[in-house]
Amino acid sequence: MKTFKIGGIHPEENKLAKEEAIEVFPIPKQVTLFVTQHLGAPSTPIVQAGDKVKVGQLVATAQTLVCANLHSPVSGTVVKVDPVPDMTGYRKLAITIDVEDDIWEETIDTTSEIRKEITLTKPEIIERIKACGVVGLGGACFPTHVKYMIPPEKKVDYIIINGAECEPYITTDHRIMLENGEECLIGVQALLIASGAPEARIGIEANKPDAFEHLQRLASQYPNIKVFKLKTKYPQGAEKQLIKSLTGREVPNGKLPIEVGCIVNNITTTYAIYEAVQKNKPLIETYTTISGKGAKTLKNYKIRLGTSISEVLSTVGIPENTGKIVSGGPMMGKAIANINSYFVKGMSSLLFIDESESKRGVVEECIRCGKCVTACPMGLEPYLLYALATRADYEECEKHGIMNCIECGSCQYGCPAFRPLLDMIRVGKNKTGYMIRTRNK
Ligand code: SF4
Ligand code: SF4
Repeated sequence: MKTFKIGGIHPEENKLAKEEAIEVFPIPKQVTLFVTQHLGAPSTPIVQAGDKVKVGQLVATAQTLVCANLHSPVSGTVVKVDPVPDMTGYRKLAITIDVEDDIWEETIDTTSEIRKEITLTKPEIIERIKACGVVGLGGACFPTHVKYMIPPEKKVDYIIINGAECEPYITTDHRIMLENGEECLIGVQALLIASGAPEARIGIEANKPDAFEHLQRLASQYPNIKVFKLKTKYPQGAEKQLIKSLTGREVPNGKLPIEVGCIVNNITTTYAIYEAVQKNKPLIETYTTISGKGAKTLKNYKIRLGTSISEVLSTVGIPENTGKIVSGGPMMGKAIANINSYFVKGMSSLLFIDESESKRGVVEECIRCGKCVTACPMGLEPYLLYALATRADYEECEKHGIMNCIECGSCQYGCPAFRPLLDMIRVGKNKTGYMIRTRNK
């Protein structure tokens, strides 16, 4: 079984919702769409209060390279374009639409027919992915088309597809592979055309044997797609670790996967790519696992963007002993500070973490046990980075590789002294990054 060699941990998997088929969450009465639902610059609204919109209509455009178009997930009337608090409580520009009926743009193929034959050319595929506002749905929300704007001197050998879903609890990738595996593979074919790569490799963790067998069976029709079983180990789905596991190649520090002839996409993103390329359907929904040990109900939902988080919470019920609600997985996700906010692209989970689990232990002195060093998949010394970041010694932070930290949290997970390693390393990384940018100006 394939895996990466350095570091990694095995947290309790808790894939509690893995048997729950994807359900469509009802269309809300109103949606609020943030213009920042992706990594990069905000998109620019092109609608105003009073405008009528249809499902799939462009409502905010990408004006810079690293940005993504935004489309209405509903039909109705725009009521305002104003700043609204997001999940963290910060106010961000958003478009609010009152829902009327469910009328789709005529250009979108809304049938359930699976369209296998790809007729678009390489530049047309990239343009369609861009036009449809597709972003990476594995957590980072990086605009997908940017990865396929490949410099002429670079060659792509492998499209790497992340079906690892290594974060505990989250099961939407698993369900997409089981329920829409064929569409995902057509999406992968589109990426092979877009990149000119001769081969795609899909990695699936061993804890999803049904998804592995299903995709392997489907992939037998495609000689250029190979499916591999990966050891269940966190962070198996991290870009560099996945490339290492599936190709043996190592992405040099500070470089992108293209440097070693690879482009990485998440499996649910390939489904969004299928819908964009073959159905002309923009990204207007997110797939979200509702889970947690005390969860009143376990779900994998397809939810229209801009749906109120509190509306979903009142549908599924908040368990009494909930200490925090986390979006994006317990390892790399963030606790939601403001539940009166709205679903955005790539919001892969709402997890109820009970009070006892969400409480942190009392922070003690480092006992030099080295557990954090053994766990780090990037070969860093987290205890040292913590100390250097605490002392605000960013020159030393840089020397000791803080910018290579992928913020996976593996170091903090097993620390017997409960030291908030990742929190402090994140601060140090931000400050060190600022120092480097200022120096290079
Ligand atoms: S795991 Fe915690 S106690 Fe052990 S060396 Fe790292 S910081 Fe220190
Ligand atoms: S959060 Fe950073 S320092 Fe900690 S284990 Fe992950 S990569 Fe290493």
